Amino acid sequence: MKVSRTFAVGVLAAAATVGIVAQTKLQPQDEDYAKLVKEWTTKPEFSSPLVDHLPKVAGIPTTKDVLGYYVGMPKKLTHTADLAKYYNALAAASKRVKVFQLGKTDEGRECLVIAVSDEDTIRDLDTYKGYLAKLADPRGLSADQAKEIIGKAKPIYMFTGGLHSAETGPPEMLMELAYRLAADESPLYDQIRKNVIVMMSAALEPDGRDRYVDWYNHHMLSQESENDRVPGPPYWGKYIFHDNNRDINYSQVTMRNWLKFYLQWHPPIMHDLHESQPLLYTFSGQTPQNPTLDPILYAEMPWFSDFEMTKMIGYGMPGVWTHAFVDMWSPGYLGFMSSNHNGMLRMYETMGNGGANTMPRTIGGGAGGPGGPDGPGGAPEASAAAGGAAGAGRGGRGGGMTARDWYRPLPPPRTLTWSMRNNTNYMETGVLSALELTSKFPQTVLENFYMKSRNSVKSGETEAPFGFVLPVQPDMTRVAFIVNILRLQGIEVGRARAEVKLKEGTFPAGSIVVKRNQPYGRLAKILLEKQVYPDPALQTYDDTGWTMGLMSHADVKEIADKAVLDVPVQPVDVMDVNGVVKGTGAITAILHNGSNYIATLRYRLKDVKFEAIEAAVKVGDVQLPAGSLLVQSSPRVKAEIEKLGLQAVTMAKAPDVAKHAVEIPRLAVFSTWGSTQDVGWVRYALDHFEVPYDLIYKERIKQGGLRGAYDVIVIPSQGRGGAKGLIFDIESRGKAIDYQKTPSFPSLGSYGESADITGGMGLQGVAEFDKFVNEGGLLLTLGASSFFPAEMGITRTVDAARTTAAFYAPGPIVEAEILKPTHPIFYGYDKTTVPVRWAGGPLLRATGTEGRAWTLMRFPGNDSSVLSGLMRGVAETRGRPAIMDVPVGQGHVVMYATNPAYRWQNLGEFNMLANAILNFNDFPAPKAPAKPVE
Ligand SMILES: [Zn+2]
Repeated sequence: MKVSRTFAVGVLAAAATVGIVAQTKLQPQDEDYAKLVKEWTTKPEFSSPLVDHLPKVAGIPTTKDVLGYYVGMPKKLTHTADLAKYYNALAAASKRVKVFQLGKTDEGRECLVIAVSDEDTIRDLDTYKGYLAKLADPRGLSADQAKEIIGKAKPIYMFTGGLHSAETGPPEMLMELAYRLAADESPLYDQIRKNVIVMMSAALEPDGRDRYVDWYNHHMLSQESENDRVPGPPYWGKYIFHDNNRDINYSQVTMRNWLKFYLQWHPPIMHDLHESQPLLYTFSGQTPQNPTLDPILYAEMPWFSDFEMTKMIGYGMPGVWTHAFVDMWSPGYLGFMSSNHNGMLRMYETMGNGGANTMPRTIGGGAGGPGGPDGPGGAPEASAAAGGAAGAGRGGRGGGMTARDWYRPLPPPRTLTWSMRNNTNYMETGVLSALELTSKFPQTVLENFYMKSRNSVKSGETEAPFGFVLPVQPDMTRVAFIVNILRLQGIEVGRARAEVKLKEGTFPAGSIVVKRNQPYGRLAKILLEKQVYPDPALQTYDDTGWTMGLMSHADVKEIADKAVLDVPVQPVDVMDVNGVVKGTGAITAILHNGSNYIATLRYRLKDVKFEAIEAAVKVGDVQLPAGSLLVQSSPRVKAEIEKLGLQAVTMAKAPDVAKHAVEIPRLAVFSTWGSTQDVGWVRYALDHFEVPYDLIYKERIKQGGLRGAYDVIVIPSQGRGGAKGLIFDIESRGKAIDYQKTPSFPSLGSYGESADITGGMGLQGVAEFDKFVNEGGLLLTLGASSFFPAEMGITRTVDAARTTAAFYAPGPIVEAEILKPTHPIFYGYDKTTVPVRWAGGPLLRATGTEGRAWTLMRFPGNDSSVLSGLMRGVAETRGRPAIMDVPVGQGHVVMYATNPAYRWQNLGEFNMLANAILNFNDFPAPKAPAKPVE
C-alpha cells in the first residue's frame, strides 16, 4: 500500500492538482481502486483529482468490501437491497454515518436516507433538526434569536438520485460519496463534515430501480452502441415513469415519503441528480421563472452552478454548462419541494448510457441517447405536457451541445467513448465542489434559508393576494382534495368559525381559509392562483398551468382584502368530509353534484340496484341534479354515503322522472407496452376511486372476442404520433424482447407479462377494435389516442388533424363549452362552460352534418378561453370538438380530445370518464349518418 497518488489528469488540471496535493493528508490509498478507475475512465480529462483515488481506512468498508465491486465498474448496477446492504455496513462501521427508513413503496421496498457528518453532529442530529425547523418557521423569532440559531445550526445538503430509473448512475455514485465523506481525512472533507450535514437517498424510486436493474441485466448487457438501442422496461414504478418528477399533487406513495422527509428535516439545499445531457449540466434557474419564489433563490442557483463549472473547468473537465435546458416555471418537479418550501433547488443532468456499458457516443443533434429520457429526442418526458409543436421547446435551446457559449466555455468533444465511471467522475466532482462551496459558506446558506422563510411570511402581510377562501359548496370532496394536498405540503389551512365578510363576498361558517402570512404562504399562492405566463415567446419544459381550483372544478376565491388575515379559524389537520343522508324515507337519492366518489359508491355497493335520473327534478325543497342516483334505503347505503362524503336525501317513492338502471360494465383499459405512463395515470385514478378493470395489452386484443368479454374499453392517451404509434408501438427488430417474471429477474412481469413486447397489436388489433365497437361495445379514446379511431376509419366520418408548428400549448387550462348538457357524460356538471386541461389531443372534426349532433363539448378557442398558463395560437382550436360521441354500428366511440385523468390533477374532468363508464348502456342514440358522407 503506498501513500502517494498518481494523477491521471490532463494538462489543464495540473495546476489545480498541485493545490489539492498540498492540502491532502497522507492517508493510505486504495491502489486497486486507483488502477481500476483509471482503466474505466476513458480519457484523463473525464476525471478529476477529487475522484481518481480513494483512501483506505481499516474498518470502514468500501463498496468493494461489501458488494464486491467499486462504483463505476462496467456492466455493474446495484439493486436496492445491495444499496441498503452497503449503507448499513457503512453506518455500522462509522459513527459519522446514519441510515433512516422513511416508509415503504407501492411494492414494499424501503425508502432510505443516509446522513453523513462529523461524529458529534450525527450524534446530535435531532438538535440540528430542531434548529432548521426554527429557521423554516421563523414566526416569533427576533432577528437576534435567528442570528443565534444560525450561529449554531448546520445546513443539511440533501442529494437525491434514481428518481428516473433509466438514469442509473446517481445511486451508484452516492455510495462512493458516502464512503469518502465518512473515510477521507483530508482538509476538504474535514471542512465539509464540520460545517455541513450531508444527506442522500439510496434511490428515490426503489421499485423502478430494481425493475430497471433486472431489465438491464436481462436485456442490455450486450449493448455495444447507441444504434444497438434496446427499449427500456414497460414500467419503472407501479404507475408512472418520468412523471414521478411531475407529480405535483404527490399522488404516488413513494413521493409522499420524500415530501414527509423534507418537511421533517427542512434541508436548505436539495440536489436532484438526473442523466441525459452531455457531460454535466448544472441548473442555474433560467427564465421563465416563477415570480412568486424569492429572488434570493434565483441568486443562489447560479452562485452554485457557476462555482461548480469554475472548479470543473479548472480540473480540465470539458462539457460542463449552466444554462439553456430547464427553467423555473412549473413547481411540479420533485426537487422543487425544496424551493417551494424556501430551500434551494439544485439539479444536474449528466450523460448516462442507460446502464453501465461503455460505448461510443456522438454528441449533438438529439443528445439524450440511450438512457437519456430527460433529453430532447426520443424522450417521453415532456410528452403529455407538450401540445402541438411544444416538443421542440424542450431542452437544447442553447444550440449545439458542442458549441462554445458563455454558459459552456469548454464544450465537450463531438465523439467520445463514454463509461459509467466517466459519468460517476463528473457527478461526484460536481457534488464535491458544491459541498466545498457550502462548507465555505454555511452561514450564508442558513441566513438565506431563514430570510426566504421570513420573506414568505412577510409577503403574505404586504402583497395581495392575502389569502384564498374555499367557500362551503355543494361538493366538498373536491375541496377536501385541495385542502389535503395543501396540508401535505405543510401549508396551514383553517376553517372559518363564523360567517366571513370580505370585499370579495360573504362566506358561510365552515368555509376554508388559507392565509398567506405563513412560511409556505408563497407556495399556497403558486398552487391556487391562475398562472399568468410572463412571455409567450418563451418556451418552457413542462406545464404552464396547474391552478388547483380550475383543475378540480372547485370554487376557490382569491382574496385581496387584507382582513382575511384576521379571520378566526379552526386549524385543519386532515379534512374529512362527512356525507349526509337527510330523512328516513324508503328511497335514497344521492345528489350528483360532481363528486368523483359517486362512482366509488356504485362500485362499493356492486350488488345493489341503482338507477340514475336523466333530468333534474325537485323533491320537496331539494333539487336533484341530473345523474343523481336512486337506491333502496338501507343502513349500509347510508353508511357508505357518509363515509364517501356524499349528499343524499330520502323520500317515500322515486320521483317521476326518466331514469335508467346503472349497471356495472365489464371494463378494460388498453395499454401498449411502449407507452404505459398516461395509462398509469388513468389506472391510478380508477384504482383510487375503486373502479375495477382489466389491464389488457396487444396479446389480449389479438385473441379477439373483445365484445364477448367487455362492455367498455378505455384507450388512455398513447401514441402521440397518431394511430401508427398506438398500433405498431415498439418496433420489432426480429428479436423478441420479453417482460416476464423469472427467479433471476423477479421485478419483471409486474402489471402484465409478455413474451415479446415489440410489434404492437398491428392491423389485426385494429380489426378487433372495429369489431368490438360494431358489435355494441363502447370505446373511449382519450387525448392522443383519439387519432386512432379517426385515422383507422373506425369512425369514418370524423377527421383528426394536428395543430401547426406555430401552435404552442404546454399544458394550459382552457375553457370548454358543453353542447349536450343532458348527455350522461355530463352528470354532475352544473355549468355549460367548464375549465379543462389542454391535452394536446387531435383537432377533431366531423365531416358530415351530424358533427353537430355528435359533438358533446367543444373549445371556444378565444383568447379569453385560456384560463391559466399559455396557449399560443388559440384560434387553431376554435370550434373544435373536445368530446364527441360517435355511433358506430351497434356501439359508440367516445373521442376525447381532452384527457380526463391527467396526472392526478384535473379531478374536475374525471366524471366525464366515470360517467361514460357507469352509463355505458344508456347513451342517447344520436342518428348515424343516413347516407355515406362525401
Ligand atoms: Zn431524469
